[in-house]
Amino acid sequence: MVGVNGDLEKLRGEQYLKLHPDRVAMQDASAQTALLQFMTTGMSRTAVPASIHCDHLIVGKDGAESDLTSSIATNKEVFDFLQSCGEKYGIQFWGPGSGIIHQIVLENFSVPGLMMLGTDLHTPNAGGLGAIAIGVGGADAVDGLTGTPWELKAPKIMGVKLTGQLSGWSSPKDVITHLAGILTVRGGTGYIVEYFGEGVANLSCTGMATICNMGAEIGATTSTFPYQEAHRRYLQQTNRGPIADAADVALGKYSFLKADAGAAYDKVIEIDLNTLEPHVNGPFTPDLSTPISTFGETAKAEEWPATVSAGLIGSCTNSSYQDMSRAASIIRQAEAAGIKPKIPFFVTPGSEQIRATIERDGLIDVFERNGAVVLANACGPCIGQWDRTDVPKTSTESNAIFTSFNRNFRARNDGNRNTMNFLTSPDIVTAMIYSGDMNYNPVTDSINTEKGPFRFEPPSGDELPNSGFIKGREKFYPDPNPQPKADVQINVSPESDRLQLLEPFAPWSGDELTTTVLLKVEGKCTTDHISAAGSWLKYKGHLENISYNTLIGAVNKETGEVNKAYDLNGDAYSIPELMFKWKEDKRPWIVVAEHNYGEGSAREHAAMSPRFTGGSIILVKSFARIHETNLKKQGMLPLTFADEADYDRISSGDELTTVDLRDMIAKDGNNGGFLKMHVKKRDGSEFEFLCKHTMSKDQIDFFKAGSAINYIGNLKKEQEANA
Ligand code: SF4
Repeated sequence: MVGVNGDLEKLRGEQYLKLHPDRVAMQDASAQTALLQFMTTGMSRTAVPASIHCDHLIVGKDGAESDLTSSIATNKEVFDFLQSCGEKYGIQFWGPGSGIIHQIVLENFSVPGLMMLGTDLHTPNAGGLGAIAIGVGGADAVDGLTGTPWELKAPKIMGVKLTGQLSGWSSPKDVITHLAGILTVRGGTGYIVEYFGEGVANLSCTGMATICNMGAEIGATTSTFPYQEAHRRYLQQTNRGPIADAADVALGKYSFLKADAGAAYDKVIEIDLNTLEPHVNGPFTPDLSTPISTFGETAKAEEWPATVSAGLIGSCTNSSYQDMSRAASIIRQAEAAGIKPKIPFFVTPGSEQIRATIERDGLIDVFERNGAVVLANACGPCIGQWDRTDVPKTSTESNAIFTSFNRNFRARNDGNRNTMNFLTSPDIVTAMIYSGDMNYNPVTDSINTEKGPFRFEPPSGDELPNSGFIKGREKFYPDPNPQPKADVQINVSPESDRLQLLEPFAPWSGDELTTTVLLKVEGKCTTDHISAAGSWLKYKGHLENISYNTLIGAVNKETGEVNKAYDLNGDAYSIPELMFKWKEDKRPWIVVAEHNYGEGSAREHAAMSPRFTGGSIILVKSFARIHETNLKKQGMLPLTFADEADYDRISSGDELTTVDLRDMIAKDGNNGGFLKMHVKKRDGSEFEFLCKHTMSKDQIDFFKAGSAINYIGNLKKEQEANA
């Protein structure tokens, strides 16, 4: 950490930190943008160790072997690109089938005290092993990859005190599903969640990872645990005994890595593990939490489907050895009682190491001989890559699935908006496949069999495999110490519709900016409105193609139409089409909008695409902070109205020219925070009004260079030339 002195408590929620992450992990969907941006810096290697994980693009359908073969064929171009980036820059490349990013990070890279960035929202999973691990977008990852300090508003700290001990059917998943119910999806925003209390000592390392993983569902910056005996056991079993020894010294000699007695938390929540019962969260939001004891009656009252259509366990959230062995213990009980699953059941191992170890220990055999489909070591159904055959995507009837995953927004799993995903522990999912009845509570209820009523005993499992982990197939492992190879060519076909090399954005000309209002947006405009996801995701590595989604969800204030803008001669276009036309016409544009523009995710294409399609300024009543920062990183000028009433005076087609931009830049942004704008309306009338800016010295440098990446690239090239 640099730039932080004095009282840390006074920084929380107020000031910005400049952080130096120790490593960066990237999953295949978001790695494309991160690496395309990194390439434009011209650096020959990454400043910190980094890894690429091919997990999000693998379809789950018939089983690991055939699904993997077909998914590799479909995504070959993307995987080849990522692999060649790995070779050129010395980044570990974990290929398709090797496992899910967060499970691999936990098994190989996460250690107590590590600070890492990952281009995935569930990166905090590594906090289960005492890391501070934060999910970011590609441009932020490039800060880490280039060794540029990464900026974060100092989070507040929420303490979650765990007392007692889990038992019976309750599991670590229930800690976080219950907490999500208390805090809601926004309750952790701006916080790091730190777990403490005597209940922590009774959790497994992988259980703690499950809890940290789903901290993303309460909006937390990240979550973490103090160093425990369970961490020592996990590090030793994953061949990292010396790290456990070092952590012991850090704890014993220097009192690091522990929850400080009397720590000043900004908020404290207490959970008694003795009384915590299994929870089921959903549908459609991860914070709608219902204890299993009342789930049946709630389902009836809410008119959720009466039956469950499928059960799925695994994913990065719940695919530990402990999870799998507990699930297998339930299946063995059912097998002994002579009962069979009533609904389809899918198992997704989180890594090749987990898959191979549970295969050796007979668990895969238990799953498969009882009808489960074991899918590839990848995200599969968790991220919409479920080629489901029993319920069509277009079905208008609701159906319920039980999963051990972490998110349950509409259409996330099978592309069907009417599939209700109920999130719970692998234990409850597995028991549920034998009933299929939404009213069934395995903790108290029996299932009727030919031999009479059958009731499951609570699951049991091993925290870690008694015979240790085995690696599995060598082909899934990368070079542990990859070195950059300057002569590797990164081939991106100009004909590709999935990948496109990035051209650096043009630096600032040194003149005032003259722009034309392309669109006046009405009301809410989130990053989903600015850069739609869904079917556009396949173009994440192709900036031009994905930019055809820019602002397609925005409402035109002047006409009430969605995705409609008008050229100066009155011709109607879709919004991105007019952007591209004006880019071609060399007419820089400005978009005017209302409050909290860019709220939602940190989606960087919401800033890259406007810049790519010829935008110069976004002028709004207020910004969502992360989006405002993203715009600055891409070389755009984000401004707010000093007087909101001026929004009403601006119309599409008006010409807006900055009056004192050069002065503001000459003063490195320290010009009092205002900028004057001159307006030439189409009827010939003219006036001036005041805007506000929040450009810092660093951000002025980004603007002058054309983007943060350009600026970093220029610096690094200078440093390499002088080395
Ligand atoms: S398994 Fe699901 S939550 Fe985990 S990384 Fe993959 S898509 Fe994200």
